[in-house]
Amino acid sequence: PSALREVLVEVPNVKWDDIGGLEEVKQELKEAVEWPLKHKEVFERMGIRPPRGVLLFGPPGTGKTLLAKAVANESEANFISVKGPEIFSKWVGESEKAIREIFRKARQTAPTVIFFDEIDSIAPRRGSGHDSGVTEKVVNQLLTELDGLEEPKDVVVIAATNRPDILDPALLRPGRLDRIVFVPAPDKKTRLSIFKVHTKNMPLAEDVDLEKLAEKTEGYTGADIEAICREAAMLALRENMKADKVEMRHFEEALKKIRPSINKEDVE
Ligand code: ATP
Repeated sequence: PSALREVLVEVPNVKWDDIGGLEEVKQELKEAVEWPLKHKEVFERMGIRPPRGVLLFGPPGTGKTLLAKAVANESEANFISVKGPEIFSKWVGESEKAIREIFRKARQTAPTVIFFDEIDSIAPRRGSGHDSGVTEKVVNQLLTELDGLEEPKDVVVIAATNRPDILDPALLRPGRLDRIVFVPAPDKKTRLSIFKVHTKNMPLAEDVDLEKLAEKTEGYTGADIEAICREAAMLALRENMKADKVEMRHFEEALKKIRPSINKEDVE
């Protein structure tokens, strides 16, 4: 295959500590991904089947990709990341083959976590009409690959979407992506943890009050908070290239510039 279409295997360096909050989600991922890959014997001892795959759903920018990378890293597994729409744009006319190729590469490099971001573009409800049958074939291929994963498993699939409602229900049947985990917009406590993560290496002035910032950022996602922190530091630098502190007023200014991604009504 051409270099453009090579399935890339990476070893992510994201740690659990790089992700603010989301403790329940982290625990779910440990059970569904890390245990089957690293401690399969616990399932055998209990006489149960390990989970097959996980669907993460929730608004954009809430850390789904980060979580998938962290659990791969903490499981000492390789990581293959696939953005749904790429299956059609990079592999024009060969999208089914792309799915086969991804699973082949995963088995070859196992233990491996395959992460399908925007899974709704790969596996929308079949027979919904408005396509040429290409998506139908791709969904079928994906289901075949999921069903074909051997026991004991050293390939685990994590998928992410903002639109679980449009997925083909067959994907969520037992033995497929049967762990469904909600990744919510961050509450105040989570926002505080996220501010801490993104200011860990930042020289903060005495007056910077992260609690207050967490309070003022309802509707902001993790991605928005990262942007605020970066912007605050850039504002300090724009004022003075020699600046060695980021002050509260820089954060306040950044808050005005960066708007929340999520409508207030949608938060909890
Ligand atoms: P999308 O649905 O758009 O793919 P996502 O849910 O996969 O979004 P990520 O790509 O994981 O979101 O997050 C984007 C960026 O936002 C991350 O690189 C990270 O810097 C920041 N971020 C999001 N959530 C958190 C969090 N809980 N803790 C720390 N950083 C976060």
